[in-house]
Amino acid sequence: MSTGCRNAPVLKERGQREVFCGLTGIIWLHRKMQDAFFLVVGSRTCAHLLQSAAGVMIFAEPRFGTAIMEEKDLAGMADANAELDREVARLLARRPDIRQLFLVGSCPSEVIKLDLAKAAERLSVAHAPHVRVLNYSGSGIETTFTEGEDACLASMVPVLPQTEAKELLLVGALPDVVEDQALDLLARIGVSPVRCLPARRTDDLPAVGPNTRFALAQPFLGETAAALTRRGAQRIDAPYPFGAEGSTLWLKAVAAEFGIAPEVVDQVTAAPRARAEKAVAAAAETLRGKRIFFMPDSQLEIPLARFLTRECGMQAVEIGTPYLHADIHGAELDLIAPGPVLSEGQDVDKQLDRVRAARPDLTVCGLGLANPLESEGLATKWAIELVFTPVHFYEQAGDLAALFARPLRRRAALSGLAPHLEAAE
Ligand code: SF4
Repeated sequence: MSTGCRNAPVLKERGQREVFCGLTGIIWLHRKMQDAFFLVVGSRTCAHLLQSAAGVMIFAEPRFGTAIMEEKDLAGMADANAELDREVARLLARRPDIRQLFLVGSCPSEVIKLDLAKAAERLSVAHAPHVRVLNYSGSGIETTFTEGEDACLASMVPVLPQTEAKELLLVGALPDVVEDQALDLLARIGVSPVRCLPARRTDDLPAVGPNTRFALAQPFLGETAAALTRRGAQRIDAPYPFGAEGSTLWLKAVAAEFGIAPEVVDQVTAAPRARAEKAVAAAAETLRGKRIFFMPDSQLEIPLARFLTRECGMQAVEIGTPYLHADIHGAELDLIAPGPVLSEGQDVDKQLDRVRAARPDLTVCGLGLANPLESEGLATKWAIELVFTPVHFYEQAGDLAALFARPLRRRAALSGLAPHLEAAE
């Protein structure tokens, strides 16, 4: 019998939200997909968001940009489609390295109901076969920032080629170094062939079909999972590869699907697992017994709560998540001991009231809430850092735990309780 939270009551909230929009995903997606370009059809605000979020990471010609809609577009006085076609033609003539172009919708393009799906179809025909044009929405009207990646990957699924082969599809944009570690572990366990979505290059895009088995590396890919399921692929149900335990359970679930015994996984992963446990234990000294509150933001909240409570000894007060999918989060909920409040959606004022009442040792939240809470004497962790930092699988487990330990050490140092710890960071 399950002892976890799968059947625990969920507090559903709907009110004012404090989250970044889905455009944010472009920052990590453009680094992953090396011959793709992300063209945001949006306003100057969207361009500013992208530039400031990505500013320090631009090292060559960026693979994203904004087709800025002017007032005359927004007022319906200009043919936005004709302007978009001209903009795309100019871009593709200048950048022959682009093989995949994403038209990314924004709040302004949605408000004037610019049909980017039609535009993508039209432009795909015009620029085939060298460039494929797809579209998705990154608007902040009804999204939280990790939905941008989900919408992007889901937009690719219908145009993937068909296959009958039994292959593993690893789904989720992991940093290359982390993806290489995962592929190496899977190869040593004997799982093959393995393909990745997204692929680093368009020519390596996977095929999909009824014998495809896919494993999500991120817990926020519900639309992508649904799109793959519509193509006949089957999802491997597992916790997510965060921490030593999560990584092992994820690998064992994949191995089982390919007829490989769990003992093989234990053997192959013994050394990296021991390294991960040792690294996590070091950070857990700071985390053990501390109370943590998750505001709904990154959609990583449930697996992180599982990792922090089970491997780091923390106590979860509330686990808030923008969306709670019983199917893709179920294996995680089974592992979380009953006790914390589970909440889905956001009503920011009510949640802040609960944070203030509980006075947790650490609150995981968006950038906009962190400073006010810090000024009230509450330690915070920015949720967005979790998608910009390599945190999956064994070699990163210690870094993941350390991300949560750092603000606690800093606060302890600032309050003069443990001045020696700041120097140790
Ligand atoms: S898509 Fe919307 S929320 Fe995002 S930067 Fe543009 S206007 Fe702002």
